Amino acid sequence: MAEMPQERVDAGILKELASIVGEKNATAEKHIRYAYSYDLSFVKRKNPDYVVMPTTVEQIQEIMKLANREKIPVVPYTAGTNIGGLCIPEKGGILMDLKRMDQIIQIDEESHYAVIEPGVSHAKFATELYKYGLRWSWPVGPPSASVSSNAISHGIGGLSGRYGLNSEEITSMEVVLPTGELVRVGSCAIQEDAWHSLLPLPQLDGLFKGWLGTAGIVTKLGVRVHPIPPLLKVFTVSAENIEDMASYLRNIGNYEICDDVTGVSWWLAQVPIPYPYRPKPDDAPEWFSFATTFSWTEKEKEAREEIGEMVIADEQKKGTSVKPTVYPEEALRARTQLPSQIVGSTKNYTKMAGGGISWPGTFTPLNKWAPVYNQWKDILIGHNLSPAVRVTNYRGVHYGMLRAMIPFNKKSEEETENARVAIVECLRTVLDVGGIPYKPPVDFGMEINKRAHPGYVSLLRQVKKMLDPNDIMNTGKLAL
Ligand SMILES: Cc1cc2nc3c(=O)[nH]c(=O)nc-3n(C[C@H](O)[C@H](O)[C@H](O)COP(=O)(O)OP(=O)(O)OC[C@H]3O[C@@H](n4cnc5c(N)ncnc54)[C@H](O)[C@@H]3O)c2cc1C
Repeated sequence: MAEMPQERVDAGILKELASIVGEKNATAEKHIRYAYSYDLSFVKRKNPDYVVMPTTVEQIQEIMKLANREKIPVVPYTAGTNIGGLCIPEKGGILMDLKRMDQIIQIDEESHYAVIEPGVSHAKFATELYKYGLRWSWPVGPPSASVSSNAISHGIGGLSGRYGLNSEEITSMEVVLPTGELVRVGSCAIQEDAWHSLLPLPQLDGLFKGWLGTAGIVTKLGVRVHPIPPLLKVFTVSAENIEDMASYLRNIGNYEICDDVTGVSWWLAQVPIPYPYRPKPDDAPEWFSFATTFSWTEKEKEAREEIGEMVIADEQKKGTSVKPTVYPEEALRARTQLPSQIVGSTKNYTKMAGGGISWPGTFTPLNKWAPVYNQWKDILIGHNLSPAVRVTNYRGVHYGMLRAMIPFNKKSEEETENARVAIVECLRTVLDVGGIPYKPPVDFGMEINKRAHPGYVSLLRQVKKMLDPNDIMNTGKLAL
């Protein structure tokens, strides 16, 4: 087992925390701290010193003022499913679990936006939105995870082919700064109840998106939501290799008719992902794709189907191996009925392994997918791991997700280290061609910062210092 840092619990601090959030919602109990010391990833366990569960913005402000005065690190947490060790306290301190702040404050069914607290889960948001015939870009992750944490972490979901990242759907924010000061960005900063837009104001929301919980605590979030057209068509094709699959995904993406355009390698299509590596049967295609498109009328659907068929014919004329295929029914439901208990269940990924998953997850231009996948395949198979890779277009064909989902046996230090080494090696190859990792663990952060323009790192340090003068917010996660 990984080494634990020294105990730093101070009875006086615990008492102050309890006086802010109530006795029941502040603890330094060992077994509770243990529960927050690890996640699914290869990142080593570290205990927080205190766990608090606030229910109001004022409580969060008080906790931050205390932490700032005493220079105690604070880690914001909602469900801890980020797969990057981002909620594991590098330097101990206060773990702030925001799950109890789970109110949907407003759903504006006419202007199509909603205002939510950080603890609102995908399951809860979906239940409410579906009552109004509205949807959000649901990820294929656990339904218990937070909508707001996903959005501020540049998460993606089933509408990302059409609308881009979930962070691009944010319309306004309320944030408690590390000093305890309450701030707002977007229209709600000018008129208290106006949560519809970030623009045309300066885009200060960038100070709190992609910062891995190191810049402030988001306490309310406005997000765009969308109507659900009734008719769904899913184009499903297979290809013998990544080059042919990438060509198809670019081609169908060009028409901008799909909500989700995704390709998965044979290994990712298996439930669970084979661990250790198992060769694919010779007669199975190496790649599968599903692309979802919704229509309001039968005629519109037929027009979309015509485009889908044209793209496949086009690819076949080029001599690629792309052909229509029947997607397994359960897999299709998992991908289209979101949030999903089928793919959202981590046991489906790790059942053969032993509880561990990590990923080199990146935003990479589409024309780099094929060369990087081929390199990743060699690296991963060389480490006896399955190349379980997903590629997904964001907003047309400009760029997209290139990610490998790597299960491993978390009970074995040796097997965990093997996965870590392979994943970091994969990361270096994709950084070389301009891919940028998302939700990066500290190991990735170091690789990113090593290559970054000195002006970028300097600016990051300056902004961080301005927002968080005592470096208490999720200390260490930016690997600066
Ligand atoms: C099997 C599986 C599949 C997944 N698939 C997807 C997918 O398709 N798309 C996708 O985007 N993600 C996916 N994920 C990742 C993850 O589930 C989502 O990003 C999820 O929404 C994160 O929410 P969380 O509540 O677990 O956040 P946490 O892990 O609790 O927090 C994430 C980050 O946000 C910070 N944070 C939390 N709350 C706040 C706050 N209020 N203010 C400031 N910072 C805060 C934390 O410190 C941390 O850095 C998947 C995960 C799993 C396990």
